[in-house]
This record gives sequence, structure tokens and C-alpha cells, in this order.
Amino acid sequence: MSKKPETLAIRTQLSRTENQEHSVPVYLTSSFVFDDAEDMRASFAEEKDRNIYSRFSNPNTSEFIEKICLLEGAQDGFATATGMAAVFSTFAALLQSGDHIVSARSVFGSTHTLFTKCFPKWNITTDYFDTLKPETIEQYIKPNTKILYAESPTNPAVDILDLAYLSQIAKKHKLLLVIDNCFATPVLQQPIKFGADLVIHSATKMIDGQGRVLGGVVVGTSELIREIYLFARNTGPALSPFNAWLLSKSIETLHVRAERHSENALKLATFLENDARIKFVKYPFLPSHPAYEIAKKQMKMGGSVVAFELEGGISRGRKFLDAIKMCSLSANLGDTRTIITHPASTTHSKLTDAERLESGITAGLVRISVGLEHIDDIKADILQALDASAEVH
Ligand SMILES: *Cc1c(COP(=O)(O)O)cnc(C)c1O
Repeated sequence: MSKKPETLAIRTQLSRTENQEHSVPVYLTSSFVFDDAEDMRASFAEEKDRNIYSRFSNPNTSEFIEKICLLEGAQDGFATATGMAAVFSTFAALLQSGDHIVSARSVFGSTHTLFTKCFPKWNITTDYFDTLKPETIEQYIKPNTKILYAESPTNPAVDILDLAYLSQIAKKHKLLLVIDNCFATPVLQQPIKFGADLVIHSATKMIDGQGRVLGGVVVGTSELIREIYLFARNTGPALSPFNAWLLSKSIETLHVRAERHSENALKLATFLENDARIKFVKYPFLPSHPAYEIAKKQMKMGGSVVAFELEGGISRGRKFLDAIKMCSLSANLGDTRTIITHPASTTHSKLTDAERLESGITAGLVRISVGLEHIDDIKADILQALDASAEVH
């Protein structure tokens, strides 16, 4: 019987030296040595499956990729220095001048900038569909469209897209379906099961989970990953061996963390929904979420992020943030520590007001990445900040 994902996340170890160390060592080496001229020739000719240079591969990076592939149900992958490097490398490797992307409007701020500001320089263009109206996708597909792209849940509005539906559209029009699965992690959702061709992660978020390093990874079919690998080994976005080692160790606890993050987040979302000072709360596993049924169908639990809008808009939102005592005001998410951000003035500040509203980012939207502190302490901090921000000075 094949082992369960929890076990694979812990027990997958690709290498061990003659020292028989229990925990995998860090292979801090830029290159690897060859026995002789023939060994070197054959290795460069890829007649041998071995490490040559850490820009191409490294034992720590290979182990990290292997674990993500096992959890996502993917054939192969490539790990990058950041999540954005994975996003960029995927598109840059697979597309050429004249190609077209159809993307959900609600995507990570830097991804949005990549599509609207960087790619047009190389004549790669993007059309956005309304994340809440996926039935309109087909009207944006053109003869030169190559990739259908989305996040689910989306950052920061926590909207949900039906992955099986996206896959159906992609197959019908012979597009590649690429999903940024950062918010869910492979523990809570496996897009390949629903028909995605490639899955991207910012490992910086819940995969690291402790706010220490940046990292990214793209996984999918061997054929597509080969294209991305050939592009990446020559352009150099590789993940560092130390970060790969750390991320691989992090995966050992990913199931336990993702589940507790989700439990705490659901408790906090339910608590906030019952507070009259809050206009709305969005969390995939709250029955009031517009796509609750879809979330239940494709996710195991709801993830760490809760979004809500305070009555009183932006000024009230900022007062609330200023009154927070324990939780961190920081740009990360999926961390052990609860983190609060105001997307309109930070991660998504480069968008125009109209673009923000179209992405579901209202002026007073607050994003909370619920951490692993005791839920009573998280609730208490938020409650006291709600009280403090309501006082008239
Ligand atoms: C953070 C994030 C990224 C980018 O990852 P970095 O590691 O910061 O480069 C991409 N997509 C989503 C959904 C993210 O939250």
C-alpha cells in the first residue's frame, strides 16, 4: 500500500552521506565533481542523471521538489528563489511573442504587474475575466491564447474559482491551465486532480510557515517542466540549497500546521461575522461565502486567510490596524504568527482604484493571516482593536 501524504511529507529523504545523519545535510556547494573527462562529457550530455551545478539542480532542491510533487500528484517540478520567479519562469519558458494569456482579475499584485507592465514589452498580452463571473471566460479567449491562469483562493479577497470548471474550459480551447495554489498549499487542495496542467507555489508563505526564507516552485507534467527547466537553468532563478533544505524540513510539519491554521481561521471568521461593526467577512469555509459549495468540493479545509471589511472604510481600517497590539503588521502570510495587512495601501497599491475594485479589494478590506497562537489570544487582540478603533477622539 502506498504511504499517506502525511508520511511522505516526513519520510521522503533522497540522500544521506556515509555519516548516516538522520536529518538530511545541507549541500552548500555550487558545483559537483566528475571522475574523468568522459564522466564530465556524459553528465553534460544528460546521459547521466546527476548533479552538475547548483543553478541546474542540487540534492536539497531535488528533495524539496520531490515532496511537493508527491503532495500535488505531479510528475516533476522546478524550484525557484521566490514565488514570483516561479510565476515568471513558467510564462517566459512556455510563451513567445504574440501569445496571449487569459487570467482571473484577482491575482497577486506582482503577478498583475508582470501581466500588465512587463509582458507587453515582449508582445505577450493578457485579458482579465471577472473572478466572480467565470462563465464569461470564453469571451476573452482568442486564437493566440495559450494559458488560462488563476489563483484559488485569491489573494487578498479569498474568492474561490471552480478548478474543474476552469479545466473544462482550458481543455475545450486547448489552453494550459496554470494555478497558483499558494493560499491552499498541497495539503488543502491539489489542482492537478481537478485538471490543472501546472501548479505554482510561493513557498515563502505557509510552506515555510515561519517567515524565514523566500522560495517558489512549479510542478506539473514532465514535458512542461522540461521546458521550464531548460529556460530556468540558463536564466538562473534557482532556489538556494540552504532555503531548499529549510523548506523541505518545513514540509514535515505542513499538514499539522495547515490544519491548525484552518481551524483557527474558521473560528476567527465565525467570531467576526457575529460582530455588528464588521460589514462582511470572507472565508472559504463560512457558509456565507459566495462559493462555499465549490470550496467544500475542492478544498479539505479553508486555509489561513480571512478577509473582512470594517464599517467606516479606509480611515476606520487604519485606526483598527494602529490599535493592534499582539498581531503583526507585516506583508507575509501563512506564518505561525498572526499577520494583518491592508491590501489597498500595500500589496495592491500599484493598481488603480478601478482595478482594485474589480479585484474585490475595497478600501477598508483587512486581510488576516491567522497564525498558530491560541485562538483566544488572537480574538482578544482583534476585539480590543475593534473597540479602540470605534472610540471617538
Ligand atoms: C506571495 C505570493 C506570490 C509571490 O511569492 P514571493 O515568494 O513573494 O515571490 C505569488 N502568488 C501569491 C498568491 C502570493 O501570495
